[in-house]
Amino acid sequence: MRSITLSSPAKLNLFLKVLNKRPDGFHNILTIFERIDLSDKIHLTLNSSGDIRVRCADPHVPSGPRNLVYQAAKRLKEDFKIKDGVNIDIQKNIPVAAGLAGGSSNAATVLQGLNRLWRLDLGLVQLLPYAKELGSDVTFFMYDYSWGLGSERGDSIQKLDVRTKLWHVLVVPCAPLYSREVYGELRLPQGKTGHRKVLTKVDDNVSIFIHHLRQADISAIGQGLVNDLEAVVLRLFPALEGLKQRLKSLNTQGVMVSGSGPCVFGITETHQKAKDIQNILSRRFRRTFVARTN
Ligand code: ATP
Repeated sequence: MRSITLSSPAKLNLFLKVLNKRPDGFHNILTIFERIDLSDKIHLTLNSSGDIRVRCADPHVPSGPRNLVYQAAKRLKEDFKIKDGVNIDIQKNIPVAAGLAGGSSNAATVLQGLNRLWRLDLGLVQLLPYAKELGSDVTFFMYDYSWGLGSERGDSIQKLDVRTKLWHVLVVPCAPLYSREVYGELRLPQGKTGHRKVLTKVDDNVSIFIHHLRQADISAIGQGLVNDLEAVVLRLFPALEGLKQRLKSLNTQGVMVSGSGPCVFGITETHQKAKDIQNILSRRFRRTFVARTN
């Protein structure tokens, strides 16, 4: 096999609580990941030059060593002393730096694709350290899960046994936002409540949310959406508040910023409803999408 084409999906966070800052500078979080069917296409072709070449028509995507797919390929190539090079062509559909983890997903897809193309035969346990090193969100995409519970940096993943599929409208309205910037602006509450008590409350809330997901109780899911990063994102982009209100007024079942934003999503009962709302919002916003749990 000389080449392979793979799909690289985006994610939404339906629940995201930031627990505390770690000594390594990252944050411990508890989050529910939902894989959605908005995806990039990645085409990998072996070359005999030995070079790693990344191509993407989207000017926002770095082409050289700064691209996460380059770093993924380089680490495997060096560790397993691979002579072949690889051409990595990315067809970008997922907006960059939008809170949808497109770059992280691309990196996971390339780790999995090169494991096959270079016949490394690595199991998930051997591949996971590469994913974790590349970024906190990469790990979720190493699993074939529609729904996952992420803890620690969001890179410790537990499968959620949820069959529900949700419809969404997504709007990515403004300039890119970088997760480092958003976490940097985050002020964690210094309340008197003991840390253990806070953790118990978060655990209770996430359990209730997962229960609503299992029951496909769309109204409860919409009301239970949580994102501790949202306040920071709204401070950085106050105009997003107006977009949130607009989405709410179109009878969505819950509206929230995904991850570190600025993508804002709403939940709808049906595909048709999502398309109708997209039609309305696309008059004003260039980047609108309808997506479903994948
Ligand atoms: P996250 O939620 O993980 O922060 P995001 O959706 O906010 O993800 P990404 O699109 O994953 O953001 O990546 C944002 C940054 O990663 C940008 O600075 C971009 O230049 C860089 N990047 C590196 N490789 C890629 C890639 N293959 N696709 C998109 N962005 C990439």
